[in-house]
Amino acid sequence: MRAAILRNKRIEVGDIKEPEPGPGEVLVKTLACGICGSDLHVLHRARHEETGGGGIVMGHEFVGELVDYGPETTKRLKRGTRVTSIPILGRKTGAEFIGYSAINTGGYGEFMRLTEDHLLEVPNGLPTEHAALNEPMSVGWHAVNKTRLQPGDVPLVIGCGPIGLAVIAGLRIKNIHPIVAASRSPKRRELALAMGADIAVDPRERSPYEAWREQAQTGLPDPGPTLPGWLVGSGLKPAVIFECVGGPGIIDEIMAGAPQDARIVIVGLCFDEDRFQPMTGIRKELSIVFSNSFNRAEFAETLRHLGDGKIDAATLVTGKVGVDGVAGAMKELESPQAHAKILIEPWRA
Ligand SMILES: [Zn+2]
Repeated sequence: MRAAILRNKRIEVGDIKEPEPGPGEVLVKTLACGICGSDLHVLHRARHEETGGGGIVMGHEFVGELVDYGPETTKRLKRGTRVTSIPILGRKTGAEFIGYSAINTGGYGEFMRLTEDHLLEVPNGLPTEHAALNEPMSVGWHAVNKTRLQPGDVPLVIGCGPIGLAVIAGLRIKNIHPIVAASRSPKRRELALAMGADIAVDPRERSPYEAWREQAQTGLPDPGPTLPGWLVGSGLKPAVIFECVGGPGIIDEIMAGAPQDARIVIVGLCFDEDRFQPMTGIRKELSIVFSNSFNRAEFAETLRHLGDGKIDAATLVTGKVGVDGVAGAMKELESPQAHAKILIEPWRA
């Protein structure tokens, strides 16, 4: 099969052996697969030994068409059904990730094998390209669930890439407003508003924390500057700040900008060592929560949200390529001013 293969920190197009479904597994023809920010990271960081001699086929945000069943399957879905799945193979020997290993090829290739038990049918009427957003959208939904929001909380979303946008979509579903968003990219600010943000600021022009403060007024008398926040509180509505950038220094920056008692949810992936000032957190009594991916129920729930039109998915797909276009698309995503999500359609000419 044809695939975009990661070898020696480069994406090459080549032919590799079609995957064979093992016990409890199915074979799907890949219809669409999103390029994820972590794929870009792996592209630059992967060492030769990690990619194995033969290279790896990435892609964990996929939709496929069911074409064949392996042994020990129940065959509950008809061949030809459009399906998606968590990017995990549930093997008797343990869970194996799809898309970051030399063996379990992902959606950057024409075929994939998936665990039958993990298959979710794409709802009728939901376009394949929107269903391919299920994985990143689930990440936002999980972060929002993790926060146990209350009416009256005022969220601030720092960074409006696919994950920040997914968080905004989740906040809108939970009807938590006003949502304040911050991004340097005009395109992404526009998308943030389309996804449900009430205000989107360019942090170079206006402090997101100031913009947030304006939205978080309680109407009660200001406790005033005569006493520090830890004695009298912030006098503002509760702050929930979502870090959706991922990179060293951002947590420290958010802690410095956050009001008293803010909850900070780390959703952006930072692969490097980072540092922050604990005293800032102590003084303000900040809570920091780390959020990872989603759980299985949230993944299925997000597919229902997409099917019910609760997420404005149409605006998020800003480009489509075939396997030959993957290297170029990944380069474009390095400076993502114009893009949210680029999809790969491996069968595209
Ligand atoms: Zn992803």
